[in-house]
Amino acid sequence: MARPSTPRPPAQPDQRTGHDLLPVLPMTAEIKDGRLWIGGVDTVELAREAGTALYVMDETTIRHQLSEYVKWTRYHWKDVDVVYAGKAFLSLAMVRIVEEEDCCLLCASGGELAYAVRAGFPMERVQMHGNNKTPAELAECLDAGIGRVVVDNFEEMERLSALAAERGVTQKVLVRVTPGVEADTHDFIMTGAEDSKFGFGLNQGLAMEAVKRAVALPGLEFDGLHMHIGSQIFALHSYARAIEVMVAFMREIESETGHAVRMLDVGGGLGVAYGAPDEPSTVKDFGKVVVDGIKEECERHGIAVPRMAVEPGRSIVARAGVTLYTVGSVKEIPGIRTYVAVDGGMSDNIRTSLYDAHYEALIANKAEQPREMVGTIAGKHCESGDIVVRDAPLQCPEPGDVVCVAATGAYCQSMSSNYNKQVRPGVVFVRDGQWRWAVRRETYEDLLRTDEG
Ligand SMILES: *Cc1c(COP(=O)(O)O)cnc(C)c1O
Repeated sequence: MARPSTPRPPAQPDQRTGHDLLPVLPMTAEIKDGRLWIGGVDTVELAREAGTALYVMDETTIRHQLSEYVKWTRYHWKDVDVVYAGKAFLSLAMVRIVEEEDCCLLCASGGELAYAVRAGFPMERVQMHGNNKTPAELAECLDAGIGRVVVDNFEEMERLSALAAERGVTQKVLVRVTPGVEADTHDFIMTGAEDSKFGFGLNQGLAMEAVKRAVALPGLEFDGLHMHIGSQIFALHSYARAIEVMVAFMREIESETGHAVRMLDVGGGLGVAYGAPDEPSTVKDFGKVVVDGIKEECERHGIAVPRMAVEPGRSIVARAGVTLYTVGSVKEIPGIRTYVAVDGGMSDNIRTSLYDAHYEALIANKAEQPREMVGTIAGKHCESGDIVVRDAPLQCPEPGDVVCVAATGAYCQSMSSNYNKQVRPGVVFVRDGQWRWAVRRETYEDLLRTDEG
């Protein structure tokens, strides 16, 4: 998934204050009375009232990002679906926002689909992907009546066909293709993605075989093609290259089978800034490269421009979210490093230990002060690798301070665990000076509920 992006220089106290960190904080973030405010809510007060660790999501930023995608894709072509990838962050409140912003929802499991069903999300706007959907999950898709299933292998196509036939229904499907373009923050490599657990490769004619099977199998309606080249992608040329490959394949399909490819879904993956050196492409540029790219390639090949879809996850929610923690202790090891221990850790943010991800942090109640020291924000779990931010420039920390880790809205809560029987933090949504629980904090009772004794 995420690759290390720009190499980082060794951390030093950087004198930056909360003001300087605004580019990686939610859009509504401001520094007032020396404190960090988000969505018109004082985060220090919020930490006191709601408790820590706590995920805080700024509704304004989420809605803005969704609407940017809608605007800058439909600016170039009328028929584009913006399909939010729920695996980045999902709750019922989030599902409702996706619906209100005129977007679709991408589910990666029956559990994610259950959220869409419970929220009353319009099922024709749901898309299901995954490389090994269970028979039960395929049945759930059909019973819910979702819009499209992205089929990933031959066995699954057979299973879905049989289940659809049993029910007397027809399911629209997209065939997932690995275009042989491996996305990278710096370059693309033309072979890597052949070796993927996802989808059908083009080289041995597998993708063409899959399309023919989708056309022929009863209960399936071949609707188009799907690709997803990676995540945390900064440069757009990998998309352009993959689109060339995909549109050439569309023409091949049309001439070989006589079937039109009505839909082309280019997946998600646009990168976000987690810190100062990160300079991802904008949604506006993404829209232009992808949508104009498809149009131009279709013109070149003399085929009709299809309906399109994009599937952003990270770039919708990453910047919208922060995590608040309370400092429990500060341990200075002279000449080595200073550990700032907080009341969370790898159970609420696994990305640092999993991907060596880097975050920016500040002390919310000292937001106006420069970050004069370098600390390592450590969690409370029984692992040395339990680090939230390694070597982070920080305001001088003291027990009781509220630490804010920026840009944790994507792939943190959704990847959280109960390691050490830690209860998962709650999620609050902030907007216009108000906050509300979107997901309440877990209790010990929640932990024990599934235990049969
Ligand atoms: C994960 C995923 C996405 C979203 O990726 P981001 O990097 O979060 O934008 C989109 N489509 C598919 C198929 C995915 O697996």
